[in-house]
Amino acid sequence: MKIVNYSRVPIKRYDPNERLKGLDFPTLVPYTLEEVVAESSRCLGCGLCVQGCPARIDIPGYQIAMANGKIDEALKINFEKLPFVAVCGNVCPHPCEDVCVLDDNKGSLATRHIKKYVAENVGNYKDVLKVKKNDLGGHPNVAVIGAGPAGLTAAFYLSINGINVDVYEGTDKAGGMMVHGIPAFRLSRELIQKEVDHILSYGGRIFYNKSVGKDIKFEDLMAKYDSIFIAIGNWNPTLTRVKGEDLKNVYHAIEFLGRVNNGERIDVGKTVAIIGGGFTAFDAARMSLRLGAEKVLVLYRRSKEDRPGYPSSNAEEELEEAEEERVEFVWEISPIEYVGENGKVKGIRYWKNQMVDNGKGRREPVPIKDKEYFMEVDTIIEATGQKGNFSFIPQQIMEKMKMTSGGDLIVNQYNMTSYPGIFAGGDITNKRKDIISGVADAGRAAMGILLYLKSIGKIERVPQRLTNFEKGPYSTTYYEIKDERAYTLIQ
Ligand SMILES: Cc1cc2nc3c(=O)[nH]c(=O)nc-3n(C[C@H](O)[C@H](O)[C@H](O)COP(=O)(O)OP(=O)(O)OC[C@H]3O[C@@H](n4cnc5c(N)ncnc54)[C@H](O)[C@@H]3O)c2cc1C
Ligand code: SF4
Repeated sequence: MKIVNYSRVPIKRYDPNERLKGLDFPTLVPYTLEEVVAESSRCLGCGLCVQGCPARIDIPGYQIAMANGKIDEALKINFEKLPFVAVCGNVCPHPCEDVCVLDDNKGSLATRHIKKYVAENVGNYKDVLKVKKNDLGGHPNVAVIGAGPAGLTAAFYLSINGINVDVYEGTDKAGGMMVHGIPAFRLSRELIQKEVDHILSYGGRIFYNKSVGKDIKFEDLMAKYDSIFIAIGNWNPTLTRVKGEDLKNVYHAIEFLGRVNNGERIDVGKTVAIIGGGFTAFDAARMSLRLGAEKVLVLYRRSKEDRPGYPSSNAEEELEEAEEERVEFVWEISPIEYVGENGKVKGIRYWKNQMVDNGKGRREPVPIKDKEYFMEVDTIIEATGQKGNFSFIPQQIMEKMKMTSGGDLIVNQYNMTSYPGIFAGGDITNKRKDIISGVADAGRAAMGILLYLKSIGKIERVPQRLTNFEKGPYSTTYYEIKDERAYTLIQ
């Protein structure tokens, strides 16, 4: 009698010692087809996970497709909401897995690993998808500012609807933080490029080294285009303002990762301290080991249980991968001063914290100031967040755009800002600040832009669905706009 094993199919990781030998040696051993079929066959089709996915991908749909070995269908289902299937198959924090009904039984379904298999083993995207471009009765012009995942997703869904899209990118690369922030050992550059090339193959144009505000004025874009989508991400480092921050060998993680990802080999010395506890801190720590550091410590002001993203399966995986590579963690500390010698950092003075429940939700770290500690380090990397830089938007327009107290743009349900015709998405608008949320924003914005263009008479109709692939067993309703008045009401 054959015994069926309903447990989650474990994913293997490459030997951590091997991983540390190269900047682009991958971490995970991909699932085989046999493993993908076994894993996707566990799906009950209940659909609970769809609510956990910011882009509302039809997750059970592609599990059922893969359980039946239908890889083309699995790709098409993903593309209904996501043009970055390979990217998300590798680095999505998979919030869907945290709400999978199987989670408290045999382990949540490994949706991300299955997505990775689909993207990396399917044929040429264009041949599989056979996208038929829509004709909406007009071909107006839309400018996208920023070629990160949000900007490029909007470019994709607008291009396949016959809109002329021009993407203005301040750097010489497309991909945003996917190429400047996320290290190649977690996300292959070839995969990013493959997906960017595919998106641009539908007619969208990209202008590199065109920073809006510096190389081209925002006002000129307003005059030239019928609508604008702002997707500039968060690139302004939030500094700790700890004394000694200006010493040599003290970096902000965005600068540090950006320089290394662009080919520089920074000498980090033997001991590196990372200040912070999110995505960026983990990447900076693992990158430092690959640059030759012997000891890397992540210093975080809260406790292990209060770290960003915890509790989630992603936070657990992230910690396991880092600990395997011998990253060390020191929880509940507050730096007092970065101490230098001859202008270069040589250590950190710090307090230990205690976590206090002040009845306002998340526990707060409070330094115990009776005793100070000191740690010798060669490099300090602050991974303490970043903010959007809106200085390119003229004052009179900025005044009309509502912002949150945290400095994000406020948008409506179609990601339109409070300035009609100007839309925004990605890290500058959503709270999660991850790729899939930026993709979800951009999908909504694309629909909103089409509705806006129709309202100003630039196109004659809007599609019931954003995508228009041949056949396609689409079961989700996320983008279905049955009544245009919904849009009129929110203006
Ligand atoms: C180190 C690190 C690791 C991360 N790891 C993950 C992960 O594992 N999984 C995950 O889902 N997310 C991860 N994230 C978050 C993820 O990268 C972001 O949420 C996502 O890239 C945001 O997309 P975006 O399109 O809003 O902005 P960005 O990706 O930041 O792209 C914005 C683009 O706009 C351009 N730009 C900015 N200003 C201008 C201007 N004035 N004119 C023209 N162009 C401009 C920038 O050059 C950039 O290319 C990570 C982030 C970092 C920093
Ligand atoms: S919650 Fe889990 S079991 Fe239910 S459809 Fe989603 S992946 Fe399948």
